[in-house]
Amino acid sequence: MASQHPPTIGITCTTFQTDQSQRPPNLGQNRSYVDAVVQAGAAPLLIPNLVDKILLRTLYNLLDGLLLSGGGDIDPTHYGQSRHEKCGTPSPERDEVELTLTRWAIDEGMPVLAICRGIQVLNVALGGSLYQDIQAQVPGAERHQWSPGYPRDYIAHTISISPQTQLARIVGTNPLPVNSFHHQAIREVAPGLTVTAHAPDQIIEAVEADGHPFAVGVQWHPEGLAGGDIRAQQLFEALVKSCQR
Ligand code: MN
Repeated sequence: MASQHPPTIGITCTTFQTDQSQRPPNLGQNRSYVDAVVQAGAAPLLIPNLVDKILLRTLYNLLDGLLLSGGGDIDPTHYGQSRHEKCGTPSPERDEVELTLTRWAIDEGMPVLAICRGIQVLNVALGGSLYQDIQAQVPGAERHQWSPGYPRDYIAHTISISPQTQLARIVGTNPLPVNSFHHQAIREVAPGLTVTAHAPDQIIEAVEADGHPFAVGVQWHPEGLAGGDIRAQQLFEALVKSCQR
């Protein structure tokens, strides 16, 4: 299907409080996601956390592609675990919205780029589980949480990418140096996902959905590297290109 206009990429949002006041919370996301999508030639659309399925579906129907953004921890009840003391405070509305959007996009072949929390949402939406805290639950793991205190383009470790994967074709470099701002990671991989990259300590850093036109999850933050690293920007360009097919 040839497109005369740029594709629309939905970007999921965080619900957050800016201060201790009694004002209602804010909805938003870091501008770097918007900038990376614009740079790749698409129109970004921030999706509010609406739990009403009819309204959410109405917004979904406007999209050509979905970007699952970074953020806080998913409620572990979504993968059948009780909450570990190191697991962050959940956001029930964001969990519900993102899990719903992800299942629609996977079932219906909509292109998805899932970043950090996003790769975790993708895995949980399809039936996988997470380590709730790498440091507490994975003996011998390296440091993966470099926030706060380090710039978003700080290179924390490399990843080893499996050949003949979408990720290998997109970034074209192996091993790939990446940033790392996560304390959780994929534990059991969901049916229908294939692991495509590991950190040197074997933490899962990327997955793809089998038989889907484009559903790529990455545990690092390409939007934090995209200004200065062509390989990071190429992930957003691959998402946009898959929307134009
Ligand atoms: Mn990492």
